[in-house]
Amino acid sequence: MAEKRDYYEVLGVDRNATDEEIKKAYRKKAIQYHPDKNPGNKEAEEKFKEAAEAYDVLSNKEKRAKYDQFGHAGLDGQAGPDFSGGFGNLNDILRDLFGGGFSGGFGGFGGFGGFGDSQRQGSAQKVYRGRDIRVRVSLTLEEIARGAEKDIQIERNVPCPDCGGKGARNSSDIKVCPSCKGTGQIKRVVNSFFGQSITYSTCQQCNGEGKIVTNPCHTCSGTGLIRRKETVHVRIPAGVEDGMQLTMRGQGHCAKNNGVNGDLLIVVNEVEHPEIKRDGNNLTYTKIISIPEAIMGGVVEVPCLDGKYNVKVDPGTQSGTVIRLKGKGLPTVNGYGTGDMYVKFIVWVPKKLNREEKEMMEKLAASENFRPNPSKDDKNFFERLRNMF
Ligand SMILES: [Zn+2]
Ligand SMILES: [Zn+2]
Repeated sequence: MAEKRDYYEVLGVDRNATDEEIKKAYRKKAIQYHPDKNPGNKEAEEKFKEAAEAYDVLSNKEKRAKYDQFGHAGLDGQAGPDFSGGFGNLNDILRDLFGGGFSGGFGGFGGFGGFGDSQRQGSAQKVYRGRDIRVRVSLTLEEIARGAEKDIQIERNVPCPDCGGKGARNSSDIKVCPSCKGTGQIKRVVNSFFGQSITYSTCQQCNGEGKIVTNPCHTCSGTGLIRRKETVHVRIPAGVEDGMQLTMRGQGHCAKNNGVNGDLLIVVNEVEHPEIKRDGNNLTYTKIISIPEAIMGGVVEVPCLDGKYNVKVDPGTQSGTVIRLKGKGLPTVNGYGTGDMYVKFIVWVPKKLNREEKEMMEKLAASENFRPNPSKDDKNFFERLRNMF
């Protein structure tokens, strides 16, 4: 599974980079990896998208703050610009970043060569991006402790086998769009006091493709895509938390005209454990012990995620005592260290006694040892109890 890289690392800036530094770093990456400069290079395209996503988050105060605090999980799917309309939106971001020179009017952006021009000349190549698919995967605490592998059923848009994703079976059924003459864009020239500016908008008739299908493929009704049920094998790392999202790049819906695949987003749904509670990477469990066990000590069984363990109860254990089982918690998702399990002993007090038991209790009640007489240490212990689970 493709793990999401750290956004700061993607842009090559450090965590307290200024807005200006982030902008500059993104600009460099965008130029380096732009699809127009790397035609057909999937890796460059991924890098380009990755950088755009990183910039989208780090250039936004609110998203950046969330990301700084919670990482990718904090953004929960809001990260990243919307690519669903093809690269048009990316171009908007770039235009935003580089100013008007970008849209062609002012030519202030020399180093960029033909970027943007390819959309205007000859045959337009609109790159579509498939939509993301989001699935929830339920995991028990035991599965989270070990990491899990799951087969997930999804329904995906895949290229139509009959037209190869083009939407028409014969190339003669695809014509150059008459509105934009194949450029995919409608050019508008505005003259103002400041000079001439040229803006481009997406052609409505061909939806920016530059081509129209005159005789659509019957199998896919011209969409170029068909729906298919698929099984995806997913590997989930140990230590994940409820609501965390894992991204499998390129495993989402395919796009028309063999464009860029969307991502498969896997959202973790933690199933509540009947007895064990989770607190970050630590676990807590409450064990009820008898009065004789509390007084005289003993051995009790405690369920951990990797099996049952015998745990010693010391003589004179107060109700509320917490012991730690080191390393019996959950591993951290990044692989550094493992949490602990905390077991709290609660002493069970019977609600009914028979006559014999009552007589024994009366004897005990008269004994000096059974009168509450907490030492200073005991008092500290009771004070600490108030802050425990
Ligand atoms: Zn088809
Ligand atoms: Zn058109």
